[in-house]
Amino acid sequence: MKVQIDLIRARLRAPFVSARGSLTDRPLVLVGVEDEDGFIGLGEAAPLADYHGVNVEDVLESLGACRDILAGAPPGAARQDVLSEWRRVAVVPAVAAIDMALWDLEGRRAGEPVWRLIGASAAEAVEVNQTIAEADRAGAAAQAGAARVAGFRCVKAKVGLGDDAGRLAAVRAAAGPEVAIRLDANGAWSVEEAIATLRVLAPVGIELCEEPVHGLEQTRSVSSAVPEVGIALDETASGAGALEDRVCRAVCLKIVACGGITGLLDATFRARAAGYEVYLASTLDGPLGIAAALHAAAVIRPDHPCGLATLGLFAGREDPLPPHGGRISVPSGAGLGAGLEAWYRRG
Ligand SMILES: [Mg+2]
Repeated sequence: MKVQIDLIRARLRAPFVSARGSLTDRPLVLVGVEDEDGFIGLGEAAPLADYHGVNVEDVLESLGACRDILAGAPPGAARQDVLSEWRRVAVVPAVAAIDMALWDLEGRRAGEPVWRLIGASAAEAVEVNQTIAEADRAGAAAQAGAARVAGFRCVKAKVGLGDDAGRLAAVRAAAGPEVAIRLDANGAWSVEEAIATLRVLAPVGIELCEEPVHGLEQTRSVSSAVPEVGIALDETASGAGALEDRVCRAVCLKIVACGGITGLLDATFRARAAGYEVYLASTLDGPLGIAAALHAAAVIRPDHPCGLATLGLFAGREDPLPPHGGRISVPSGAGLGAGLEAWYRRG
């Protein structure tokens, strides 16, 4: 079995600003796994150094080790067995890429979409939120108004950037009363700051606030002190034990952080067992990562709109999975879907 590894850098239309800093250029690693019969499955590693704790060099090293293992495996060897040791030591974005590629390969061999292989009986379009990327009042309001007109029922704004109250008031005025507003602080606040700020922001009407603080006990404190605002784990969801004990209302799960489709389904099962509401998001993934989440959503049936409408943030590459009326359709075709690879060859 052969593994092809290609590093690309996808430019963003505008710097993506959060409480963690600014991002202009997105490294993505395209992985192709070819079996003995010439079928090829594709996956993607999309590491964000300050989110996943690993950089692209770590990912390339793990994928190189995987390539050597698969190249040396005897024909017909069970991939799960061959890769079990590698999975224990590889960095999680690399595990996600190989998992995606193997599901894509299995789908292509079977002539079936991945959503059917993982047990869904149908794949409806997935409701998504629009991300408000602009950090100033006028720009954010313009994006919120455009999102409402385009049919989105949820917009998400980064907070912890300064002028949060003024910017959110402008977003509410432009979005109108029906559109849900989700916040994401990326852990910018202390517990005391989060409680004080969310009490001030609550009257604007907040669907959920993602990661107001880092840490399970810190999140529990904020959630119980401000019951009028639903709190969601994001970065903290990757920590040990985070999904076993419910500390707030919801959890945002990501294909990369969970180690692919297999890990995402497992994480969802554990989170729901603990009583969490679940929704999905990307970490500025390319179309293979978005497609993998859309297929998984057919089984997961998210409780809130998902943060998967992020391909429009890239420059010079046409979005192969555009939202229509606030929903993204699961791509057609076998495996993860047809026509996704071309996106990586442009730009
Ligand atoms: Mg987040």
